[in-house]
Amino acid sequence: MFIMLYYKDPSTSQEIGRAYSLASRPGSDTLELYISMVHGRFTSKLDTAKVGDIYYVSGPYGQFRFDPKKNRKVLFIAGGTGIAPFMSMLRHIKEKGFDIDAVLIYSVRYPTEIIRKSELEDFAKSIGLKLVVTVTRPQQGDNWTGETGHINEEMVKRHVADLTERDCYVCGPLNFTNAMKAVLSNLGIESAKVKADVWG
Ligand SMILES: Cc1cc2nc3c(=O)[nH]c(=O)nc-3n(C[C@H](O)[C@H](O)[C@H](O)COP(=O)(O)OP(=O)(O)OC[C@H]3O[C@@H](n4cnc5c(N)ncnc54)[C@H](O)[C@@H]3O)c2cc1C
Repeated sequence: MFIMLYYKDPSTSQEIGRAYSLASRPGSDTLELYISMVHGRFTSKLDTAKVGDIYYVSGPYGQFRFDPKKNRKVLFIAGGTGIAPFMSMLRHIKEKGFDIDAVLIYSVRYPTEIIRKSELEDFAKSIGLKLVVTVTRPQQGDNWTGETGHINEEMVKRHVADLTERDCYVCGPLNFTNAMKAVLSNLGIESAKVKADVWG
């Protein structure tokens, strides 16, 4: 699910709003959002937000849903802050104790951009999540020993041997979700088995 976050400029009364996915688990009394600061119209406002500014939310909205009772074998693919809905789902799975076989492939530019790293690693122990993080812009001195480069057919095949048995969920910016739909399609996954939350 996502919410709309709005800012109203007090001097002009102009309002601007953007959609943000919820990382909080269903039923949580807090809203956790992961926002990429892309220096656009809204994120520039957020970047300089100060006490006294008024932001408000509406929602929740959206159809990017996962029913752990129906979909036991899933593949989640996240690009950057596109990890948000999967964080919400994984927290829900853990809290309710659902028996799920989930693989998460998570693409970030730098290791420092991995959101909630220790919580994600903990899901491996608590709910058996298979976590694959790939860093697309590894730097010397990162000491990164995991996957590198963009998610492609070869990487998915290597980590998800039983891909055809899984329902696939993809979330992130438009370019990313388009690329991932193409990767899954090239691997023979019919589009009906792929749900995408597209931010564009
Ligand atoms: C359903 C939905 C859920 C969303 N959830 C999230 C979320 O959880 N976290 C999040 O960060 N964003 C999310 N977005 C995107 C968000 O709504 C805004 O589009 C984003 O924050 C940019 O707004 P802006 O006004 O700062 O940029 P704009 O002024 O609208 O755009 C400025 C420039 O930045 C580029 N740009 C916009 N978004 C990105 C991006 N993500 N990466 C790189 N370049 C970009 C645009 O192409 C444009 O050139 C979601 C969008 C949708 C539709």
